[in-house]
Amino acid sequence: MTCLTDSMLPLPGVFFAASGCLEVKNATIVISLSRYAAAMNSKTDELIDEENHFLAPNYHPLPIVIARGEGAWVTDVNGDRYLDALAGYSALNFGHRNPELVEAAKKQLDRLTMTSRAFHNDQLGPFAESLCELTQMERILPMNTGAEAVETALKAARKWGYNHKGIPSNSAEIIVMEGNFHGRTTTIISFSDDETARAGYGPYTPGFVSATYGDLDDIAQKITANTAAVLVEPIQGEGGVVIPPADFLPGLRQLCNDQDVLMIADEIQSGLGRTGTTFACQLSGIQPDLYILGKALGGGIMPLSAVAGSAEVLDQLSAGTHGSTFGGNPLACAVGREVVGMLKTGKYQALARTRGERLAKGLLELQETSNGAIKAVRCIGLWAGIDVNPELVSGRGLCEALLDEKVLVKDTHGSTIRLSPPLMVSEDDIDYMIEALRKSLLRLS
Ligand code: PLP
Repeated sequence: MTCLTDSMLPLPGVFFAASGCLEVKNATIVISLSRYAAAMNSKTDELIDEENHFLAPNYHPLPIVIARGEGAWVTDVNGDRYLDALAGYSALNFGHRNPELVEAAKKQLDRLTMTSRAFHNDQLGPFAESLCELTQMERILPMNTGAEAVETALKAARKWGYNHKGIPSNSAEIIVMEGNFHGRTTTIISFSDDETARAGYGPYTPGFVSATYGDLDDIAQKITANTAAVLVEPIQGEGGVVIPPADFLPGLRQLCNDQDVLMIADEIQSGLGRTGTTFACQLSGIQPDLYILGKALGGGIMPLSAVAGSAEVLDQLSAGTHGSTFGGNPLACAVGREVVGMLKTGKYQALARTRGERLAKGLLELQETSNGAIKAVRCIGLWAGIDVNPELVSGRGLCEALLDEKVLVKDTHGSTIRLSPPLMVSEDDIDYMIEALRKSLLRLS
């Protein structure tokens, strides 16, 4: 007879041959909990070592290896569950493995996955029509990643500038915002002011002029006869959920109209429900000339991005002048169409508003009792930027402490963390996140 104590765990049928921590007594397999944990951690370590060995070191992930996901929660290789408060940088607005999206993907997997745009496919047209309706635009141009869609918008704006405004060739200027984040291509990092993203990657693409985010006078001063467009994030996500003054976007819309300049809204992170509206621009009651969309458009299943705009602008890209092998593939389009359908119900935008209110209330209360550890909280919809006092707490340290509390977040720019859980997160999950934050701050400071 084997007597099991609480330090022993029966694992019928499980055999840890490699770990060397097995004991077999009277045909019952028992293993001490500490040895069990060590065996499990060795699995995490093994997989992390493997990544570290075979991958270029361009990321510094938190030490968790995720094996499954469902809704707002993920499970690691040890079977531990974590609340995902990053949601793939908002690519998972509808949660991990959202059943409707998985169903749409599975159905399409059984029919057709890839054609290239050398031919037509029966998913692209319906997807394009539904996205035009959602964006209230005439045309879309599908791509895969966010950066590709940004590049597409920049190319369309330059061509429009030459053909429509008569800007002398190779002289088009695009005004960008300080503190922007639009992706990682050579052209996009050329107009970033984040030295970590830029250094060592020159020479840089010319034709971009930087203005202060939120400052209409600065932008007005920088517009010239050669300005084709102003590129703006309605809310700067990577910048730390930076919300511009209320009159900024309406003022920019007016300025762009007056100067015959395109207003391009990069809603790759802010769009598709995150702010409590379908697009963040709607919070200011404006419609840009071009929307750039990505992340959640692919439902966390497929990389899918798009530019949406008028025929006047997007028809500049005639056959052969731009494209992408996978852009508009039927699998991504089938998922994207389902995403658009889900957004048309308004359910996810409403969830972002109600859950967001609870999150904002909890965070502001936490700030008051944080003894200065939280310097500022910015919330909009279900999206929060929290600035911590770097003298008391580091952003990375806080993320690691939150990992111990089973909440996943990632710092941005050192001392800011961003919370952007899936929009279907429950009220209990929101409370859990705030409590984890409270415990982590207490422990660190
Ligand atoms: N634009 C914005 C506003 C983003 O937040 C991001 C990604 O975080 C991008 C563009 C780039 O998207 P991707 O990483 O899919 O290229």
